[in-house]
Amino acid sequence: MPLAPLDWSLWLSPWVLGIFGLCIGSFLNVVIHRIPRMLERQWLHESAAQLTDAEAMARVIGVAPSETEKLAKAVDAYGTRIEALPRFNIVTPRSRCPHCGHQLRWHENLPLVGWLLLGGKCSACKAPISTRYPIIEVLTGLAFAGLSWRLGAQPTTLLWCGFVAALIALAMIDVDTQFLPDDITLPLLWAGLLAAAMGWTIPLEKAVIGAAGGYVSLWTVYWVYRLIRNREGMGYGDFKLLAALGAWLGSSMLLPVILLSSVVGAVVGTFLILFRGHKWEIHIPFGPYLVGGGLVALYVGPASLLELLGLLSLG
Ligand SMILES: [Zn+2]
Repeated sequence: MPLAPLDWSLWLSPWVLGIFGLCIGSFLNVVIHRIPRMLERQWLHESAAQLTDAEAMARVIGVAPSETEKLAKAVDAYGTRIEALPRFNIVTPRSRCPHCGHQLRWHENLPLVGWLLLGGKCSACKAPISTRYPIIEVLTGLAFAGLSWRLGAQPTTLLWCGFVAALIALAMIDVDTQFLPDDITLPLLWAGLLAAAMGWTIPLEKAVIGAAGGYVSLWTVYWVYRLIRNREGMGYGDFKLLAALGAWLGSSMLLPVILLSSVVGAVVGTFLILFRGHKWEIHIPFGPYLVGGGLVALYVGPASLLELLGLLSLG
């Protein structure tokens, strides 16, 4: 269904979407860096607000309010200080060098080109800029171009670009913080269900069963593991992420995604333990592997993926 009399084949061609992906990758770098810090500030602010309720605290613990008022007052002072902090969100303040505070000029901020022009160094203090930034930009560019190439230059390809962008952000935030924010997993889940309901992606029943099945399957693994080993193997964020993957890719892709991410997770985990001196008990975030499994499912396609997994299990 054409949305507007536009030449989609040009605007959504692999080249154009690839360049668009570079820009989105640049935006993702900001999201990956700032969302965890924004949430940390928000949580501390909320906790402070709750702790200032001296009466509730006294009631719960069963002591006189005079005992809890001292804490409430002290926490209130910190809460006020958090409120007074300068604004910090996705757009404010502008990007700066973490070493010297130099504010990036527009051409230094250009995706990939900015990093190349600077030779990977801050123009003011010459501190190296992590290669991670251009890598994420290139990765997102290639991912978008790949979608246009695989799904064709049509409007729904943009939806899948959004899906992939959210997955890249989630994987990197999980690597950095071992945490998958609800602020990304839940909208991604709802968007997947909505896109299916609109008839833009997969049949709705597959999306709904995929979402519910994704959540419940990992939830079950979590509780079985917890009852047997008495510790947590993964977090609730992983369930929500697999639910989102189920909503976008459908119920039939759940098992392949879980298998794929478990195999890759086990291989990488073993590598880290054997060659990088990690301990067995270390928490390795599962999110990046789920994302990897989901991306393979998306780009390789269901039929080829099932074939591939069949071959792996035979070999
Ligand atoms: Zn600098």
